Parts: sequence; structure tokens; C-alpha cells
Amino acid sequence: MRRKIVAGNWKMNTTVAEGVALAKELVANMGEVPADVNMVVAPPFVHLTSVGEAIRDSKIALSAQNCADQPKGAFTGEVAAAMLAGIGCQYVILGHSERRQYYGETSATLVPKIKLALENGLQPIYCVGEMLSEREAGNHFNVVKAQIEEVLFGLTAEQMGHIVIAYEPVWAIGTGVTATNEQAQEIHAFIRKTIADKFGARIADDCTILYGGSCKPSNAKELFACPDIDGGLIGGASLKAADFIAIAQSY
Ligand code: PEP
Repeated sequence: MRRKIVAGNWKMNTTVAEGVALAKELVANMGEVPADVNMVVAPPFVHLTSVGEAIRDSKIALSAQNCADQPKGAFTGEVAAAMLAGIGCQYVILGHSERRQYYGETSATLVPKIKLALENGLQPIYCVGEMLSEREAGNHFNVVKAQIEEVLFGLTAEQMGHIVIAYEPVWAIGTGVTATNEQAQEIHAFIRKTIADKFGARIADDCTILYGGSCKPSNAKELFACPDIDGGLIGGASLKAADFIAIAQSY
């Protein structure tokens, strides 16, 4: 069944102590969040064990922000999917636009990352989204379709059932500019149809598709009310417990 998810991408922010304090504040106040909303936090790698400990007896799930495209071995500086699963991660964000833009991540590296995540029982939160120039050229549907086809179409239907998709227009990330409800709903419906055409209606109906890009307490309610938006991937606003909880509550 399609799940409601509100996931916080902390990016490269907070010290471990600050991250643990933030996680504890979330745990202390999440009673206000509806029971059917799944909260996820994605702190930096070095925080995962400590933050995992802080959220252990709560309903908040742990996510990494990336994983290696190799299972193990001589890959200095990389972190394997198996290592993440071993410390209690349930999710991993893959294909975030910042990794595509600044670290040269491509579909070719994302295919093995997704497969390794799935093989190790992690649920990928696979990010797609167009640049401003691509939207202005009217090319956003093609860009998003290619990102889905190139990385997800090699999966089996069973594997696809474990994928969460996050639509994040690059022009809305960290800019304060949010996609309108109509823009977001239109492309979420397009993503669901793309999945349906390849994997069938049941897999597409059950697929959780998150919106990301300057989502905040003031606009979350309207975005989450759209029929094909199943929650959010939240950057900046996930660093303040009150804002992140308010976003989850607005569902
Ligand atoms: C993100 O980077 O995933 C994101 C959605 O960031 P922000 O909410 O800050 O726009």
C-alpha cells in the first residue's frame, strides 16, 4: 500500500551532538504527528549510529544520504549499502540533485547503487527532477522520464515495490521557491503513469512519490493534499524540530 512519508535530509549539517539533540527533540514531540505518517531522518554518515540510538524506540526511521556503487573493497572514502543496513538504516537517498550536480553522479552509477541498496534490504528514496533551464525549455517531462527509465526500468516489479521516488525540481531546492501545487501534481501524476506503463497499475498505485523543494510548514498542507503527492523530502526545514514536525502534522 502507498505510504505517507515525511523524510528529513540533513545534508552536511549539524555536529553529531547537535544531530542527536535534534533527533531527541523529534522523538519527544512526535506524538503530535498522525500515526499513519512515517517519519524518516537522513543525517550525515558519521551521525548514523548515534542518531539511530536516539530514535531507537520511536517510530522514526533512519536513512543514509548515499551509498557506494560497489559492494565492498578498495574504494577509499566510500560507504557500502551492507554497512548501512548493518547499523539499522532502513532507507537510503540516492540520486539527489546535489550529488548529480557536484559529484558527477549519473544513471550509470545509480543503477548499481539502487541494486545494492535493495539487495541489502534498504529502501531507496530515488530523487529525480529537472533544472530550471530544462523546465523553461519545456523539457521537464522528458528529463524526469529519462531519469526513471535509465535507473529503475531494469528492476523487477518486486524490486520496484520497494522504491520510494522523490520529485525534486532543482530550481526549488534550497531556493525558497516552491513548485505550485499544480506543477507538482502534474509531474507526480506523470511519474506514476510512467511507472504504471512499465510495471503495471498496482505497483504504480502503491508507489510512494514524495515532493521536495522548499517544502515548509506554510505550504506542506496544500502540497500533501494533491492526489499523487504522498509526502515530502525536506531539506532546510528538517533541521528545526518544530518545523519538521509541523510539516509531518500538516499531512
Ligand atoms: C532537498 O535537498 O532534498 C530539499 C528538498 O531541500 P530544501 O527543502 O531545503 O529545498
